[in-house]
Amino acid sequence: MKNMFVPEIFGTMVFNDKVMKERLSKQIYSEVRSAINNGTPLSIDCAKEVAIAMKDWAIEKGATHYTHWFQPMTGITAEKHDSFIKPVGDSDVIMNFSEKSLVKGESDASSFPSGGLRATFEARGYTAWDPTSYAFVKDGSLYIPTAFCSYGGEALDKKTPLLRSMDAFNKQALRIIKLFGNEKVKRVTPTVGAEQEYFLIDKSVYEKRVDLIHCGRTLFGARPSKGQELEDHYYGAIKSRISAFMKEVDEELWKLGVLAKTKHNEVAPSQHELAPIYVSCNIASDQNQLTMEILKSVANRHGLVCLLHEKPFATVNGSGKHDNWSIVTDTGENLLEPGETPMDNAQFLLFLVAVIKAVDEYQDLLRISVASASNDLRLGEKEAPPAIISIYLGEELDGILSAIETGGVYKAKKHSNLKIGISTLPPIPKDSTDRNRTSPFAFTGNKFEFRMVGSSENIACPNYILNTIVAEELSKFADILEKAKDFKAELNKLIKNTVIKHKRILFSGNSYSLEWEEEAKARGLLNLRTTVDALPRFMEDKNVATFEKHKVLSKNEIASRTEILLENYSNIIHIEALTAVDMARKEITPAIISYENFLIEELNAKKKLSKKLGSKLETGLIEKLSTLADKFSLALDKLEKDVESINEIKETVKRAEYCRDVIIKDMKEVRKFADEAELLTGKSFLPYPTYEDILYSVKY
Ligand code: ADP
Ligand code: MG
Repeated sequence: MKNMFVPEIFGTMVFNDKVMKERLSKQIYSEVRSAINNGTPLSIDCAKEVAIAMKDWAIEKGATHYTHWFQPMTGITAEKHDSFIKPVGDSDVIMNFSEKSLVKGESDASSFPSGGLRATFEARGYTAWDPTSYAFVKDGSLYIPTAFCSYGGEALDKKTPLLRSMDAFNKQALRIIKLFGNEKVKRVTPTVGAEQEYFLIDKSVYEKRVDLIHCGRTLFGARPSKGQELEDHYYGAIKSRISAFMKEVDEELWKLGVLAKTKHNEVAPSQHELAPIYVSCNIASDQNQLTMEILKSVANRHGLVCLLHEKPFATVNGSGKHDNWSIVTDTGENLLEPGETPMDNAQFLLFLVAVIKAVDEYQDLLRISVASASNDLRLGEKEAPPAIISIYLGEELDGILSAIETGGVYKAKKHSNLKIGISTLPPIPKDSTDRNRTSPFAFTGNKFEFRMVGSSENIACPNYILNTIVAEELSKFADILEKAKDFKAELNKLIKNTVIKHKRILFSGNSYSLEWEEEAKARGLLNLRTTVDALPRFMEDKNVATFEKHKVLSKNEIASRTEILLENYSNIIHIEALTAVDMARKEITPAIISYENFLIEELNAKKKLSKKLGSKLETGLIEKLSTLADKFSLALDKLEKDVESINEIKETVKRAEYCRDVIIKDMKEVRKFADEAELLTGKSFLPYPTYEDILYSVKY
C-alpha cells in the first residue's frame, strides 16, 4: 500500500479558499470572501462564475451529480441528487450547472417536519446556498451546503438559527471589547470542537437484531458477564479491524477538510471516540454532521455498523458528544483565555460572568438544546451529567470569584496575597486541568465543555442556544457599561453583582450524587428530567423575547420547533414500543416456550426411564420460567393495549406525556421479565445475539 502523505490529501475534495483563489477571477474571489467574512450578498455575475468554476472542479474530482445538502429538523442530513447532464440535439449531453442551481434549490419537502410552518398548499421549501461553508465532493456528487427555509423565509432547519446566532453574538461581543479599547477587532466568532463518541459492532450481529435496525438501540438484553467493570477498554490498545476502520475514517475526513485529530477507545466495550481540532461553530457543526455520515459509511465498508445512538445498550455507558465552546477574535485572541494584564483579565472575567449568568438564567434552554428521547436514557444515569445544569470552574477561578464577591483577599497558589479589584487583579493562572468529569458545563482552561450533548445530536442546536443566551447577557452588560461615567468602577460593580446573583449555578462537587440533586433543589435550580418536561418551556416569554430580540428565532419558529421535537419524541417511543411488542411476541415468546418444552420433554423422558432419576434441575427451571413467563405475558398484554391508544391522543404535549408516563414504563416492565428469562434460557434457544455476542463481536 502506498504511504499516505497527509498534507497532500488534506482538503483535496473541498472547494476551499485555495481552490477559489486559483479558479476565480480576482474580483469574484473577493466578492465571495466578503460574503463569507461579512455576510454581504452575492451578485448574479458572481454566482454565475462560481457555479461554472465549481462544476468544472467537481467534474475533475469525479462528480456526475450535485446536491443541496441541508439539515432538516430530524435526521442527520438530507440530500437530493441531480446530475449535471443537459441534452444537446437528440443524441448528446453536456455537463451543465447554472447559477440558479447553485444559489437556490426547490425542495418538494412536504414530508420534512415543519411543525405547521409550511401550509400544505405551499408544501415547498427551498434550500439556499450557504457560502460560509465550503462545497465538497463525496461519492460522485458535488455537495453544496445550504440553509432550508419556507417561502416566508422561516427557518425549517438547524443551520439557519446557528448562522443567525453567530451574527447576534458578533454584534454584542464587539460592543464589549470596544469598551476595553480594542478597536482592531472586526469580528468575534464562537469556536467549537465536538468530541464524538460511538459504538462499533460487527454487521452480522446487527442484522439479527430488529431493535438495532429500527431503533438504533437494544430494547432487550440481559447484562453481559463482563461489562466495563475492569475499565480495561478506555484508552486500551485498538484492535486491528477497528484501527483499519479509524485509518480510513481519518483519510476520508482529511480529504474533506475535517481536522480529525484524536482517536481512542472509550469506557464501554466496543465504544470509541473521535475528536477534531476546533473551528468556527458553523463549520464545526457541518463537519460533525459529515463526520457522523463518514463513520457510518466507512463502517459499512469494513463489515461493521457504527451506532450513534446515545444509549444502545443498558448496563454499559452510553455515548455523548462533548461540545467544547470558546470565543475567538479575528485577531486571533481567545476571549476565554485568562490574560496577562489586569485589564485583559477584567475583560476575561466579564465574558466569564456573562456565561455564568446566561447558563443560570437559561438553564431550561440549555436542557432543551440536548433534549431527545434517546438522550433522556443517558442523562442522569451516573455515566453522564444529570438533567440539572451547573457550572464547574475549578479551584483557582472559584477562589478568585469568591474573593471578588466578598471583597476579600485571593490567595493564589503561586502568588503572594493579592487584592482583588479590576485595577489590581492578579494574573490569573491558567488552570486547564479539569478535575471534575461529572459536571455538565465545565470550564477547562480557555473554553467551556458542555457535556450533556448526545452522540447522535446535531450540534447546531446547543451552539445556537449558547451563542444566543451569551449574546443576550453581553448586550445587557454593554447597555450598562456604555453609559458608565466611571468605567472601572461600574465594571467592578457589575462583575461583583453578577457573581453574587448567579453563584448558585456554580458547583464543584460530584454532579452524579444524590446529595447534589437535593442541594440543587434547595438552590432553586431546575431539574427537567425528560424531554417532555423541558420542551414546553421553549415557549416561555423570557425565551421568546431573547430569541426575537437577537433575531435568531421568531415566536412562530420556536412554536414549530417545539411541536416538531415533541412529535419526534412520541414517534420514536411509538416505534420502539411496536418493535418491542414484535420482538416479544415473535421472538422472545417462542424462545421461552421452546426452552420450556425442551425441559418438559427431558423431564418426561427421565420419568419414563426410571422414577428414581433426580429432576430438580428441570423442575426448578420450569417453575422459574413459568412464573416469569406469566409476568412477561401480563406486561406484554398491557404494553400492546396501551400502544394502541397513542394515536388517539391528538394533542402533541399530551401524547408525549402519555409516551413518557405509560409507554416507557410498560416497555421497562416487559424488558425486565424478558431479560430475566434470557439469563435462564439455553444459549441455542435464544432468538438473537446477546449483549455478550454484540459487545464483543469485534474480536481481533
Ligand atoms: P479533553 O481533555 O476533553 O480531551 P482536549 O484538549 O483534547 O480536551 O480538547 C477537546 C476538544 O476541545 C478538541 O476538539 C479541541 O479542538 C477542542 N478545543 C480546544 N480549544 C478550543 C477552543 N478554544 N474552542 C473550542 N474548542 C476547543
Ligand atoms: Mg472532553
